[in-house]
Amino acid sequence: MSTAHHHPSLKSQIPAAHLAIVERLGQTFHAAGKELVLVGGIVRDMLLEIELPADLDFATNALPEETEELGLAAGAESSYLIGAHFGTVGLVFRLPNEDMVNVEITTYRAEHYPDDTRKPAVEWGETLEDDLSRRDFTVNAMAADPLTGEIIDPYGGQADLAMAIIRAVGDPEARFREDPLRLLRGARFVAQLGFAVEARTFDAMIAQAPSLARISKERIYAELTRLLTGPYASHGLDTLADTGQFQQVLPDIAFLPDESPLPGGPHREKDLWEHTKRVVDRSAARPVVRWSALLHDAGKPLCRAISPSGEIHFIGHEREGGVLASKVLARLNADRATQTAVRRIVELHGRPESYDDSWTDSAVRRLMLDAGDQLDDLLELVAADVTSARTEKQTAARKRIDALRAHIARLEAERALGDYQSPLDGQELMALFNRPPGKWIGDIKDALREMVIDGDLEPEDKSGASSIATRLLAMLDQGKGVDTVS
Ligand code: ATP
Ligand code: MG
Repeated sequence: MSTAHHHPSLKSQIPAAHLAIVERLGQTFHAAGKELVLVGGIVRDMLLEIELPADLDFATNALPEETEELGLAAGAESSYLIGAHFGTVGLVFRLPNEDMVNVEITTYRAEHYPDDTRKPAVEWGETLEDDLSRRDFTVNAMAADPLTGEIIDPYGGQADLAMAIIRAVGDPEARFREDPLRLLRGARFVAQLGFAVEARTFDAMIAQAPSLARISKERIYAELTRLLTGPYASHGLDTLADTGQFQQVLPDIAFLPDESPLPGGPHREKDLWEHTKRVVDRSAARPVVRWSALLHDAGKPLCRAISPSGEIHFIGHEREGGVLASKVLARLNADRATQTAVRRIVELHGRPESYDDSWTDSAVRRLMLDAGDQLDDLLELVAADVTSARTEKQTAARKRIDALRAHIARLEAERALGDYQSPLDGQELMALFNRPPGKWIGDIKDALREMVIDGDLEPEDKSGASSIATRLLAMLDQGKGVDTVS
């Protein structure tokens, strides 16, 4: 190994219960004369001192069968093979608090790419260095010794972490050609870590962006979703746009990053792409909300019109945006639920923005019905969709959303109360006792409703309600108050 630094702080990053598993595995493999190291994302995240993933990833020079044996000897409760020919053994450990921990141990690999268009052929690698050399970025190509905490870092991953740089391992263009998914992974790590792409790696992204055509829609969609939900999503989007990846994987909205302000005028349009990115960053980091944020104003350029008085309008852009959202997500084979949810949110996002005191209960109820299960996500988007630099505007917009949320909460509370109905209505009581309408109906219904609210009677229990009503009516006829019933 060319470089090796000692990192005493390393182990402080792993929770004690997990560390016990890591050390037991390290000792068991060591005793059997096999190498075992923590590898990839977990090493990167440990060194960044950010929250670690729940799962532990290792690499070893043991072959899968032996890995499985050693893993069970180290105390794993069960084991399974993840695609036997990829050489990954999954192990499940139980923590003292009964939580389960997944461990994945992969035999060192070396990959060979027979040509550009075929899938890589996987071969066992001889050494850890073979294994690290096939990994995508320097910050992902480090390993850590589970017993000593020593970092194995042949490609300068620690230096790149310190400089916050995403740099390909080896020749960037060749690495992207081998596996174009790495282009999107690079942009995704920018969005997750807030790093910048190193210049040669960046140029190679530009050169290789067209090779993304070889990647399946599902994998593209999964990477884009991870990018969009990253804390630095706008940086990831810039990386996509500036390397031509955006145009490649999102052709239906390829125009969006090129949208710039219209020149001058009394109602200068805000820069659509800058606005879009800010809304993405500001919105809740959930897939549906972030996709909606990316697409919410994408219909605007198609609807732009200028009125005789010189004002810019985008009438109908929500509907047009909904159409675009469907196109974009269908092209990426997104699941149906996400497609429907995002389209609905994009179509509706103009409505909560226009909420004011004049809205009636039924107008709010209609919005609640139209938004359905997407109501929360819709309000999240609308709350984020205020990027004005003017604080009065910001404050007014926040008040408007708060007032709408309060209005919705009131209607929901009333609806919940509305569920507490007498199991028998007036018609049923009249039929049951063959009596004409009168004050007695209200008295009995109120008493029954009170019992439902107190939980002494089910709202559907008509027969139970009938016998209670019979007793109540007898008491009423004797001139007693109904509230003396027990
Ligand atoms: P996270 O799981 O936090 O998203 P990660 O770095 O663990 O990040 P994974 O997709 O889980 O990412 O991959 C684990 C490791 O495998 C990576 O750190 C990297 O070393 C390697 N790797 C994954 N995908 C590729 C790829 N397409 N090309 C080369 N190496 C890859
Ligand atoms: Mg991982």
